[in-house]
Amino acid sequence: MKLVWFRNDIRVADNPALFKACQDAGDKGVVAVALLCPTQWCQHDEAPVRVQFWMANLRALHHELAALNIPLKVLRAETFSDVPGQLLALAEQIQCDGLYLNREYCLNENLRDQQVVEQFHQVSIPVYGLHGDVVMAPGEILNGQGNPFRVFTPFSKAWRREYLARGPVPLPAPSPQPSSSLTASLTVDEVPAAIDYPIYSESQWSEALWPSGTQAAHQRLQHFVAEKVLSYGANRDMPAIAGTSTLSPYLSCGVLSPRQCLAALASVSEHIDWLDSQWATEIIWREFYRHLMMHFPAMNRWEPFKPDVEARIRWLDDDRLFDAWCHGETGYPIVDAGMKQLLATGWMHNRVRMIVASFLTKLLRQDWRRGAQFFMQHLIDGDFASNLGGWQWSASVGADAAPYFRIFNPMRQAERFDPQGDYVARWLPELTALEGMQRHDPVAASTLGRPLPIIDYAQARAMSLADYQRSA
Ligand SMILES: Cc1cc2nc3c(=O)[nH]c(=O)nc-3n(C[C@H](O)[C@H](O)[C@H](O)COP(=O)(O)OP(=O)(O)OC[C@H]3O[C@@H](n4cnc5c(N)ncnc54)[C@H](O)[C@@H]3O)c2cc1C
Repeated sequence: MKLVWFRNDIRVADNPALFKACQDAGDKGVVAVALLCPTQWCQHDEAPVRVQFWMANLRALHHELAALNIPLKVLRAETFSDVPGQLLALAEQIQCDGLYLNREYCLNENLRDQQVVEQFHQVSIPVYGLHGDVVMAPGEILNGQGNPFRVFTPFSKAWRREYLARGPVPLPAPSPQPSSSLTASLTVDEVPAAIDYPIYSESQWSEALWPSGTQAAHQRLQHFVAEKVLSYGANRDMPAIAGTSTLSPYLSCGVLSPRQCLAALASVSEHIDWLDSQWATEIIWREFYRHLMMHFPAMNRWEPFKPDVEARIRWLDDDRLFDAWCHGETGYPIVDAGMKQLLATGWMHNRVRMIVASFLTKLLRQDWRRGAQFFMQHLIDGDFASNLGGWQWSASVGADAAPYFRIFNPMRQAERFDPQGDYVARWLPELTALEGMQRHDPVAASTLGRPLPIIDYAQARAMSLADYQRSA
């Protein structure tokens, strides 16, 4: 019997671990397992909205697996250290002779997997680690000297060359497995409707906003490719326009794979140079950050990629400023609208993520780790590698990060990316009484009940610049 362990790869198609397990199983049968690890998830700041979404997708997977004659077992292991024992007990119960998983690239997940491999090897059960979360696995894209890239553009060029050389094609879903007496005798576990989970967050998962299941994910992908991808370059920075794919929650839980996204993008190849398109570039950023986590393990411990830059900065550690930011009460409408969008939906537009992150780190001068942790606790697409990458980029302490003197002026950003004020009026409806750029004016907004700005932009910018220019 083969055992497939599902983590953030909740799909049956283009799932290398599932595919190989089914190939290797012959007529012996395949069993699937997922582990609920609420205490560990809390330690990793996983947002309740993301946990709810993950579980909803697991319920959908349960049905898809049943149609393939693959029973799903759902186990509970409080922390990662309980995982090997739980898996081994199941493996023994089903007379497992092979465990299959898709690799994860962050440190704690890697250590957990190494412990599983060691314990399974002790009882002579082989473990097969495949690559389903990325198109190119860490270690496959290296520079001429065989070292990891530290800068994105050369990484992306090498990545694209490798893609063309390999022409990766998504795997199909496996065929239904033959029924065996053992699989038939196993009790199939129901995925619980809810789980006790102590992190508090206003954002709750909504099926209407983020429908679960691979069918919904593929519909979203097809709609994006058919209707939006050609204007993605022009619209992707305008938060009032639904111009991006909103596929990040599906990629984060692995309901979709990056290979499937690129294959769908390739279907519009007569209209655009799809592999060089901006949307493909975003998928490659996602891979870049995963590679960095594997090659530079210190990042997993929340260390900056550029410690020399961080050494110059004196973070203020001011709870009043931080709380105002968290609740969208800074008095800068574009910042506050972004935070309200996050609290209401569990998602925020990328341009606005950059604006609020720059605001927190460079104007409020709060440690980027505080912002990153708050994001993880609220994002439905919370993803350690991409989130850390985004925050370190914003604070100018990351690989290929924004230069330290690039400090977003919220008013200038608003002028460029939300000139009609439609985005801010959606999330701060009291501002609909104003028009256009007036909606971004903190003083005009304050007459409608919005708070006055908690900092003066020019002053805060000057202090921040002085910090970054200090020698360590
Ligand atoms: C401070 C900050 C924190 C972030 N935290 C996360 C996070 O926790 N999880 C997350 O998935 N993304 C994160 N991002 C990246 C980006 O904001 C989101 O991936 C994007 O907004 C998701 O929307 P979309 O699916 O419509 O993206 P699209 O524009 O349609 O892009 C397609 C896919 O490419 C990937 N992608 C796009 N931009 C980036 C990027 N800059 N870095 C890495 N991958 C990218 C995502 O998987 C996305 O779904 C963060 C960015 C910043 C600046």
